[in-house]
Amino acid sequence: MYLKRLELRGFKSFAERVEINFEKGITVIVGPNGCGKSNLTDAVQWVLGEQSARLLRGQRMEDVIFSGTAKRRPLGMAEVSLTFDNSDQSVPLPFEEISITRRVYRSGEGEYYINKRSCRLRDIQELFAQCGISRAAFSITAQGKIDEFVSARPEERRVFLEELAGIGRYRQRKAEALRK
Ligand code: ATP
Ligand code: MG
Repeated sequence: MYLKRLELRGFKSFAERVEINFEKGITVIVGPNGCGKSNLTDAVQWVLGEQSARLLRGQRMEDVIFSGTAKRRPLGMAEVSLTFDNSDQSVPLPFEEISITRRVYRSGEGEYYINKRSCRLRDIQELFAQCGISRAAFSITAQGKIDEFVSARPEERRVFLEELAGIGRYRQRKAEALRK
């Protein structure tokens, strides 16, 4: 499984629809300071369900919506889609490609989709937890994360490792079952 495409519309500095296609292997994104490189990784984390505006380097969730420039009015909606190649069936769904989409409006309302069908955030989390992709896993290693891992307490480090191994979702389910 690999990330094939990232599409953004109205997300942070990307007012226009932008589509980035990735090849297999390593992709390096370069550009001057402030051109939007980190906004791209923010977009990936966001579509995977990140709920913390702070981790996305904003104050409120609506800060992910294009806030306008001297020449361009702010937008009312942000949308990001990630498309994965699933020809190896890493995700046990009968699709060659799996795309997930998240949308948020200034009103605060938001929506999630898997292959254009409306779904819950939880459906996305469950789908990807099985292959070690999650907003919190080490698929994305932000600045400072390595220090955090090294200096974490053993219990905290265990949580990292469990997410990575894909067993985090069972903990989540167990916690839910115990609450009922
Ligand atoms: P560096 O090399 O310094 O790390 P970068 O390429 O990672 O830079 P980003 O942090 O991705 O840059 O982009 C920062 C830019 O995104 C800033 O110019 C900021 O004004 C703009 N930006 C962030 N949020 C929004 C928003 N909601 N609407 C419009 N522009 C935004
Ligand atoms: Mg940056």
